[in-house]
Amino acid sequence: MARKDSGEKKKQRLDKGSIKKLRGIFRFMMPYKGVFTLGLISLFFSSTILLALPKLIGVLMDTAQGKVTIPWLPDLKSVGLALMAVLLFQSIFSFLRVYFFAKVNENAIADIRKALYQKFMSLPMSFYDKNRSGELFSRITSDVSVLQDTFSTTLAELFRQIATLVFGVSILFYENPKLSSIMILSFPILIIFAIIFGKFIRKLSKSTQDELANANIVVEETIQSIGTVKTFANEDFEIKRYSSNLSKVVDIALKSATYKGTFISFIIFVLMGGILGVLWYGTYMVSVDEISIGSLTTFVLYTMFIGGSLAGLGDIYGTLQKAVGATDRVEEILAANSEHEIDKETIPKLEGKISFNNVKFSYPTRKEVEVLKGVNLEIEKGEKVALVGKSGGGKSTIAHLLQRFYDIDSGELLIDGKSSQDYNLIGFRKHVGVVPQEVLLFGGSIQENIAYGNPEASEAEIIEAARKANALDFIRSFPEGMETLVGERGVKLSGGQRQRIAIARAILKDPAILILDEATSALDIESEKLVQDALEKLMEGRTSLIIAHRLSTIRNAHKIAVLEEGKIAEIGNHNDLISETDGAYAKLIQMQEY
Ligand code: ADP
Repeated sequence: MARKDSGEKKKQRLDKGSIKKLRGIFRFMMPYKGVFTLGLISLFFSSTILLALPKLIGVLMDTAQGKVTIPWLPDLKSVGLALMAVLLFQSIFSFLRVYFFAKVNENAIADIRKALYQKFMSLPMSFYDKNRSGELFSRITSDVSVLQDTFSTTLAELFRQIATLVFGVSILFYENPKLSSIMILSFPILIIFAIIFGKFIRKLSKSTQDELANANIVVEETIQSIGTVKTFANEDFEIKRYSSNLSKVVDIALKSATYKGTFISFIIFVLMGGILGVLWYGTYMVSVDEISIGSLTTFVLYTMFIGGSLAGLGDIYGTLQKAVGATDRVEEILAANSEHEIDKETIPKLEGKISFNNVKFSYPTRKEVEVLKGVNLEIEKGEKVALVGKSGGGKSTIAHLLQRFYDIDSGELLIDGKSSQDYNLIGFRKHVGVVPQEVLLFGGSIQENIAYGNPEASEAEIIEAARKANALDFIRSFPEGMETLVGERGVKLSGGQRQRIAIARAILKDPAILILDEATSALDIESEKLVQDALEKLMEGRTSLIIAHRLSTIRNAHKIAVLEEGKIAEIGNHNDLISETDGAYAKLIQMQEY
């Protein structure tokens, strides 16, 4: 989705705007400008020293014929030594150039990745509702990799080729203006063709990238939902879908290759034409003794150097174009609005009194549907409130708002009498604990997963939390105990065990406000009892909002709030509400929703 908004529609040309964008991304190089300057100096020397080669080779040839062109290089031996010295210095400076540029590049790239990751951590939920995770992932991986080439090879090459071109052409004109004019003739032809072909190639490589992205999405989605693919026995269907996407990639890439091939062979044709032209006219000049064989050799070698630089510049142009696209996609994320700055402001204590006053809310991605139409709900400090209502009625939405995943549209959400938005966001969330319906565990040990509730907790505190969560026995039954690794999604643990890990996490977090999203699927009786017992301990002394799916939980709550049509239709205890035979709660029970 976001790819369409950003990458596909915008032209990736090196116009003024895109150069500005690229300049923007180069800000990440600024902290390393000292090292970069060293790189440039090394580059300058490695390129200019190399330019002495054609001249020396020419001298070598003339010396072989008994002509001394440079007084301090009178014989073959001294010319040979000079050539060796040039090579040696060139190698040293090339090494330094590669090293310094790599240093700048690797650091700048790591900084961009850090900046992106920091941004990802601070973006609001609504951003994640709008963008596909795989697509976002690609920004920090493949897009940044494209930039990686820009910082190192591309930039260094750009300077090197420009230096070679400027010096080379100057030397040529100095050496032999007549021959230089012949060679220069081929330049405009090259430039015109580069522009025309460049346009086609650019278009096609853009389409190739887009088609490839489509193919990648198929892989990403099917691997993520491999269970669904298998349930529907749609493996073959998916393989065909992926193959057809790949065929499109191949078709476009081949078309692009045809253009590129034509372009490259044309360039070679014109360049070689130029060189042959120089050779042809040059040999004539040699025959009438206007120049020496050595000067002609020098001249031809310079021409080849310059040709190489021109071709190199073409390549660099292409890479920079790709970099503009990638920069766009990286900058788009960096420019998105964060929900908060990651700071360390803490809120020492919250009582945990919650008031929803006429709260209205629609999700930012579905503004037209008002999910909450004026919710009024008071929860006192330490009170347990069960939230019930039809599926899709907005129970989880209330839980989202309590965690400040989204801002309310109107009304008030007060915590301890103060608008929730007036608290520092991170500080506030430290006081809200959640035991979700589906517990996702991070890859790592059980200990690490529990400590996620409070990374500063000591080992003893972690063990104590596990004990309170009724998790210690099962954890100790594993040979590796707390060190047992849980898979990508905690697959090795049962639902009840995962829930108890989540409870232990919440105990460590020690929040004033607790949100429990009860699992819809029932656990086995033994497990259920352990989880219930652990939850009771967790809820003690905390304000708890329970999204309830079971009558047993509802009965234990101080109050039951029934959500209907985006409002709290009824509130009271089980006995009061059930006696209202026409009431929303009684109907829910009749319909066996609970
Ligand atoms: P419940 O928890 O009572 O089953 P929810 O709060 O999950 O209900 O959903 C209430 C409504 O809000 C539903 O129509 C649902 O489709 C919609 N909804 C839930 N989450 C989002 C979201 N992130 N973006 C847009 N709409 C959402």
